[in-house]
Amino acid sequence: MDGSMQNYVRISLYVFRYRKLVTLSVVCALVVSAFWAMNLSLAFPVVKVLFENDSLHEFVDKEIAARQATIAEHSATLQKLPESDVKRRARVQYLMGEQSGYVLMLTRIRNSVLPWVPQDRFDTMAAILAILLLATVVKGMFIYFQELLVGSIVQLTVNAIRQDCFRAALRLDIQSLGNIGTPSLMSRMTNDIEQMTQAIRVFGVTLVREPLKAGACTIWAFFVNWRLALLSVTMVPLLGLVFNFFGKRLRRASHRTMESMARIYECIAETFGAARIVIAFSGFRKHRRQFLKANRDYYTGSMKIVMLGALSRPISETMGVLCVFAALAPGAYLVLRQTDTILGIQLAAEPMSIAELATLYALLAGTLDPVRKLSSVFEQIKRGMAGCERVFGLIDQRTTVPEPPTPRVLIPHNSLISFRNVSFRYEGTDTEGIPRPLALRNISLDIRFGEVIAVVGGNGSGKSTLLSLLPRFMDPAEGQVLIDGIDIRELRTSELRSQIGLVTQETFLFNDTIYENIRYGNPTATAEMIHQAAEKAQAAGFINQLPEGYQTVIGEKGGRLSGGQRQRIALARAIVRNPSILILDEATSAVDSHSEDVIHTVLKDFAVGRTVFIITHSLSSAFLDLVTRIAVLEHGQLRAVGTVAELQQHAPSVLHMLQVDIPQTRAA
Ligand code: ADP
Ligand code: MG
Repeated sequence: MDGSMQNYVRISLYVFRYRKLVTLSVVCALVVSAFWAMNLSLAFPVVKVLFENDSLHEFVDKEIAARQATIAEHSATLQKLPESDVKRRARVQYLMGEQSGYVLMLTRIRNSVLPWVPQDRFDTMAAILAILLLATVVKGMFIYFQELLVGSIVQLTVNAIRQDCFRAALRLDIQSLGNIGTPSLMSRMTNDIEQMTQAIRVFGVTLVREPLKAGACTIWAFFVNWRLALLSVTMVPLLGLVFNFFGKRLRRASHRTMESMARIYECIAETFGAARIVIAFSGFRKHRRQFLKANRDYYTGSMKIVMLGALSRPISETMGVLCVFAALAPGAYLVLRQTDTILGIQLAAEPMSIAELATLYALLAGTLDPVRKLSSVFEQIKRGMAGCERVFGLIDQRTTVPEPPTPRVLIPHNSLISFRNVSFRYEGTDTEGIPRPLALRNISLDIRFGEVIAVVGGNGSGKSTLLSLLPRFMDPAEGQVLIDGIDIRELRTSELRSQIGLVTQETFLFNDTIYENIRYGNPTATAEMIHQAAEKAQAAGFINQLPEGYQTVIGEKGGRLSGGQRQRIALARAIVRNPSILILDEATSAVDSHSEDVIHTVLKDFAVGRTVFIITHSLSSAFLDLVTRIAVLEHGQLRAVGTVAELQQHAPSVLHMLQVDIPQTRAA
């Protein structure tokens, strides 16, 4: 088979962790299937007792006598046959062997089972029914245990897979995550895994039990009449073909529904993530239409699956009935014509009795029922396998910022950060299939430890992209980034990032207490360090005024705080990290003048002994006293770099164009 085999193997590896439970559940399934075959084989004595006026005792005695007579006949024939007729002698000897086997079995039954069987026919019947009832109850108990066991195996397995999925997603780089998209991640970790759950459950319950049941019945049927049973088994490959045909189509259809489910997630996330804008602009119609389309796609895909499932069931059932008929039709012929051959082919050791045929029928029907059940879960399994592919696809995805095999040790940054001939291009293409243009083009820039460097430039000039290279959100396509002479790709990412504090324009806060949000910057921080950081970030004032102080839960994305307050908590978070490199990405841009003052005051103190990058599209004059140099980016290229005085001298137009508001220009 194709890649799907690999997925079965991988699921098995997960399931293997719970092998004790699995063994127990298989034992339960074995018991269930043994009882299943036994119940069905009770058809034999029932028919005997009801229709052939025999008690079992008489029947067995008669059988043994008859078989012994046959053996005697055969041995007489053997005597008469000349030694040279090897072929016929072998055949007769074979038949004798078969008969002696029966005699042996019957004698065993007479000695061990029959003493327990009543002589009276009605009593026998009652006993059989009692056994049937008892067996059904016991079987039911084992079904219960098996399903409980399988249920826990399934949940444990799925939890482990979901855990791995989450871990794998966290290991990915920002670009890959962006390409997959949060809604798709969500649908994989919920909907697709849920589909897998269903598949693994039926896998454990049905796929273990039903084939065992079918197997038990088949084995038993071979015992009753192996020739006829064999005839019926030869039809099985036909069933395989049917399953294969539907399987492929079901998998493809399942893939499509999962993708449309991801689109539904996307639609919900987008609409309600921007609820403010949606309501303000009354964009309901547009979103409803998008949702309707995603929903309709899902419906179309689901209907396709329903249709395939609905088709596969009756077809496979028909094929199953054909299998039974393959044995039953010749069987009926043998019974009704009282013969043991059809067209000269020996099909039974001797002419069959009705009871034998009835048993065979019951057993083959007992094989058919599991086949029917299997075909009804088939659709779920295929669906689950499609889910599996998507989930394992995520788990297998490799980050584009790999960890170095032998990382070098980074002592706290203390001399130089350099970008050397760095170029970068975002993955993917635009709508016309043309690769995106270079976002950074051959940038070389050295920043000494302790500098406060302003990276300025218009929208889309590549400022954020350049500084994203430093914490290795992505790696440059060409060139290197070095910290104190070490290529950052040779450092353990966690170690590299532990030296970097980041404050962005959109402050991301978690729905937790203020305390925990600050501590996020440094999980080892003590309460005192956190309070100090809040103090330094000038956030302590307003935090203390809150009724619950640091224990205030700030709502999703910090929704219960004002923009300026969120900014100060984000600053405190960066401060408590005590980074040697601080990056403020437009942190000073969309804030009111008071917040700008706050940031200025904070930086004045905090920037000492660190390297600070202030990314901004328009540098406020208030920061000029802090900034040691300015780097100007334009269309992904470094246009100029230098102190304010140097830039004024060599490239005044650049400053002017960027509306950098320097005191002299203002005076002029
Ligand atoms: P700045 O921060 O200076 O405003 P960016 O560094 O964010 O600019 O973007 C530089 C260029 O890269 C822009 O042309 C932008 O369209 C492109 N870009 C930014 N982020 C992505 C992304 N995730 N995928 C594709 N292109 C991007
Ligand atoms: Mg930016």
